[in-house]
Amino acid sequence: MPRERLRDLQIERLRAVVASACERIPFYREVCRQRGIAPQDLRSVEDVQHLPFTVKTDLRDHYPFGLFAVPLADVVRIHASSGTTGKPIVVGYTRRDLETWTEVMARTLASGDVGPDDVVQNAYGYGLFTGGLGFHQGAERIGCTVVPTSGGFSERQLLVMQDFGSTVLCCTPSYALSLAEELRQAGIDPKTLKLRVGFFGAEPWSEQMRHEIEARLDVAALDLYGLTEIIGPGVSSECLERRGMHVFEDHFLAEIVDPVTLEPLPPGRRGELVFTTLTKEATPVIRYRTRDISVLHDDPCPCGRTLVRMEKITGRTDDMLIIRGINVFPSQIESLLVGVPECEPHYVLVVRREKAMDELEVVVEANPEVVAQGAAAMEAAAHKVRQRIQGVVGITATVKIVPPKTLERSIGKAKRVIDERPKT
Ligand code: ADP
Ligand code: ZN
Repeated sequence: MPRERLRDLQIERLRAVVASACERIPFYREVCRQRGIAPQDLRSVEDVQHLPFTVKTDLRDHYPFGLFAVPLADVVRIHASSGTTGKPIVVGYTRRDLETWTEVMARTLASGDVGPDDVVQNAYGYGLFTGGLGFHQGAERIGCTVVPTSGGFSERQLLVMQDFGSTVLCCTPSYALSLAEELRQAGIDPKTLKLRVGFFGAEPWSEQMRHEIEARLDVAALDLYGLTEIIGPGVSSECLERRGMHVFEDHFLAEIVDPVTLEPLPPGRRGELVFTTLTKEATPVIRYRTRDISVLHDDPCPCGRTLVRMEKITGRTDDMLIIRGINVFPSQIESLLVGVPECEPHYVLVVRREKAMDELEVVVEANPEVVAQGAAAMEAAAHKVRQRIQGVVGITATVKIVPPKTLERSIGKAKRVIDERPKT
């Protein structure tokens, strides 16, 4: 769709969703009243910036169903985010919402050229988490053969991969790595498998990690993005050009704002992603601050899609570590580590406070050859990592090199940062 037509569609839908939210949800009625803004004041898509933001605590404060715009009788599905801090965020779907979600997930898979001949091994967790069912619906819609393995049980995952001839793998990038490792241990050469494309999302992963996964699994690794509050996976996804994730803008309006001043930023500028749902019926959200950091690009993509593209997420405003005054994103460290040949791409970052000073410890696994060479080789590798971090990030970190398989493997979202500092 040409962008001008898309803009027309967006403004029409924006007015409708704001009108419905104000009419049906007391919270939105009140915040829009306080702002002195009504749906009819929205003349162009840019006017979205006059609307109030929604933040995670607003959703939490109305736990569980306080922000639903329809009676439960019209809600046919509930999902919830894992809620690592406190109560989960609960969202509802009407029948039409499920239809929208299925459509955007079908588009996601289709952007990787997936079709009816594909066998899709869906290793995202099934349950309240949106990943499993989201992929499932989309893959069924395009007529793939879906194998709902869900996460974990790696032996069975390998069996399915080999015996059912899976051509598509869907899971978190950290679980993809862990499966690659299991394959290697089982002596299975990925080249003998039929896998050709993987859809890896739900957590941040660097470009270096992409190369690593592609090499280890012998697949094209595509990124896709989403969050429960907006719909689940299917907010944006990469096409085979891999120049960023196309946002499904007919359903989700994307903005980038400065995370401090909250001023809107133009394409090309890095900031916090903000989404407004344009068609969601059960739990519409207006200007939801995701905390995820990215950049939007609206120049044409060679694939022909006119949808804006968002760059890989470089971090979250709330997982930025401030270590002795220096802002450090875990993704920066990841891209350094994954490039060191002596190390395996399994790591955790531990932050501690010692004598009022923040200390960063990077724990990373060595590859088996380095371990075989002994303590001196391990120490040399640690030294190399320390120097890279010093050179690129500008902080002195303690680096601990550990033998392979020391760190816990994840089946879903990996926990890569352990912050042991006292909460302030
Ligand atoms: P929870 O993890 O609490 O269950 P979600 O599954 O809704 O909640 O997680 C959404 C978050 O996951 C996003 O806000 C973002 O931080 C992260 N995320 C999802 N997809 C990606 C991706 N492709 N790259 C980086 N981060 C992602
Ligand atoms: Zn494209």
